[in-house]
Amino acid sequence: MRKTIFLILALLLFWQSSPAPSFAVESGTNTSETVQLRILETTDLHASLVNYDYYQTKVDNRIGLIKTATLIKQARKEAENSLLFDNGDHLKGNPLGEYLVRVRGLHKGKIHPVYRAFNYLHYDAVTIGNHEFNYGLSFIKSALKGLKMPYVNANVYSIKTQKPYFKPYVMLKRKVVDESGTAHPIKIGVIGFMPTQIMKWDKANLEGKVITKPIVDSAKEFVPQMKAQGADIIIALAHTGISNAPYHQDTEHAVFYLTKIPGIDAILAGHAHSIFPGPTYNHLPNTDLELGLINGKPVVMAGSFGSRLGIIDLKLKKVAGKWRVLQSSSTTWAIADENGNSLVKTDKALYKRIKGDHQETVEFIKKLGL
Ligand SMILES: [Zn+2]
Repeated sequence: MRKTIFLILALLLFWQSSPAPSFAVESGTNTSETVQLRILETTDLHASLVNYDYYQTKVDNRIGLIKTATLIKQARKEAENSLLFDNGDHLKGNPLGEYLVRVRGLHKGKIHPVYRAFNYLHYDAVTIGNHEFNYGLSFIKSALKGLKMPYVNANVYSIKTQKPYFKPYVMLKRKVVDESGTAHPIKIGVIGFMPTQIMKWDKANLEGKVITKPIVDSAKEFVPQMKAQGADIIIALAHTGISNAPYHQDTEHAVFYLTKIPGIDAILAGHAHSIFPGPTYNHLPNTDLELGLINGKPVVMAGSFGSRLGIIDLKLKKVAGKWRVLQSSSTTWAIADENGNSLVKTDKALYKRIKGDHQETVEFIKKLGL
């Protein structure tokens, strides 16, 4: 018994004389002002709502938002604070998208199934991609009416008004909960970009109606405005890829140069259907593929057709009344392995909401005898 008491005393003494435990608060800092914010991305969905290949008329577990949705819910569950964005090219690119527009038509008051899915999943904001113009300006304008969240693009301008054709950016007012459970208000600026090449690719639909401005110029114009309006952090929904080829006015893949713009805190990339961080970008200078940084800025690109969910985890800290990004890490989660075996369950509630449109498309293809 005595021995035990002695041992306890010895341990207590040892504990007291040992250095402070690692979770101790650094002097002069307040841990309650540290917030984890998770940013989620889907990109280049191209109307892939279902894990189905309409060309081969069979299940394909490597694609489909009804699979990605399960990852979205999982990623949200893990995080105290999260935001979900889509990075464009979501309406066109498969027979479902075609059938909806060219055969059945998007009737007045009806919400496009892709937007029905976005509404159901409560995206915080979306940007539109170059392919959104393939069906013409009036189609995209009426389709966007069905969205329950803001949509942004900062580099397409109306010729008539000389102003941005869409809302260039939006300020999301949110509450974030810190590590001690206290809620804080935060203003998140969200801005969108797309390649200027739309004027070539969709000349018939766009000429005489809109013009484009270079991506980086538009960022330089609007980011300071967003800061002046009190944006704590700024997220770029950049429907553009990643390349360090010398920048010019019509750079199609502008992410590398967007990372150099002060004020932008995180970039969601797309358009190239690639994966970042990933081996495609092994030779990109100033790039950390472990943390997903380009020129020190967090970037993510989540493949295409819903194959992956992009995730950027930001650690924010309040410094002199302003939220600053202290640390970040980017990654992507896949819905299937390399052999196409599904890694996630289907989001049945989402499937129920879009099943009708999917089945109509399948029936239509059958009738054509394709
Ligand atoms: Zn694109």
